[in-house]
Amino acid sequence: MNQWTSGQPARLELPLARASVDRAGDIRLQPDELNRLWDSGKILHHASGKFLVTDLAQIKFLSAADIDGLKLSGSFESGEKIFLGIEKGIGYFAWCSDALNLLAHEEDQSYQSLRAIGDGLSDLEMGLAVHAQALANWHHAHQFCARCGARTTAGNGGTLRKCDQDASEHYPRTDPAIIVLIKDKDDRVLLGRQKVWPEHRFSCFAGFVEPGESFEHCVAREVGEEAGVDVADVYYLGSQPWPFPASIMIAFEARTNNPQAARPDGQEIEQIRWFSREEMKQAVLDKSLLLPPVMSVARKMIEAWYGNGANVDLVSGQSWRPE
Ligand SMILES: [Zn+2]
Repeated sequence: MNQWTSGQPARLELPLARASVDRAGDIRLQPDELNRLWDSGKILHHASGKFLVTDLAQIKFLSAADIDGLKLSGSFESGEKIFLGIEKGIGYFAWCSDALNLLAHEEDQSYQSLRAIGDGLSDLEMGLAVHAQALANWHHAHQFCARCGARTTAGNGGTLRKCDQDASEHYPRTDPAIIVLIKDKDDRVLLGRQKVWPEHRFSCFAGFVEPGESFEHCVAREVGEEAGVDVADVYYLGSQPWPFPASIMIAFEARTNNPQAARPDGQEIEQIRWFSREEMKQAVLDKSLLLPPVMSVARKMIEAWYGNGANVDLVSGQSWRPE
């Protein structure tokens, strides 16, 4: 029997998991319809890992004619057309160019990273942006066939690449990573600190799912490796895409019966701390604890556990991890 009074925790609302567009997968196989939608569509420009934005840091949508103009100007001679979906009869696309030249727009303020503009995006824009960025990253890294080394060409609205030589098809990949909030029976949470983080930063434990591993096994392994405690119960909290470059974060809460065994692994994690709500409030106040960025899954998990007053007591840190 479960010794904790609260059972299944509430699902998280996660900032990058907001998406409203219909991906309309059937249209990817209809070249004529894709062309028609492109000609009248709204196109976001993803270049060198950044998005073209308005003066107000909103996504700036271009027309097909605008894209032709960009090509003619010589600034961007080539790009991948990626179909993102349909909303209210309008086709949405990304045109991804200059993926290999990450410094091309370093000085140009009209191109901004998702980390820089993420706070102000609507659900529609966020859904389009995370989809576009994940696919742009994948196209960038898969220009050549993994089987024979020949060039590949994008197809099906930018949702696959096909080998020019052996016609093998290659699909985008998303790398799952678990992130876990560890609790004990007194409803304290355990946070860990990585050596490479800013001073006083503590956060939840996380790691990539290994081949052949279930999410639940991954949670138990990561928690055991990094924090030294056993996992008694595992609850799913939610997930959000994290296209930096190709992850999805799957969030869990895990409960442990041996909190006294907690110790850092000394490799990835150099320090761990248990926090009650009062201890966390005090640590934020005296600046001995810098919480993870506001847009991160970890921050949302910590705030959800803290409950009432999190928006007042836990105000600290930046929106996003610095780039
Ligand atoms: Zn090939």
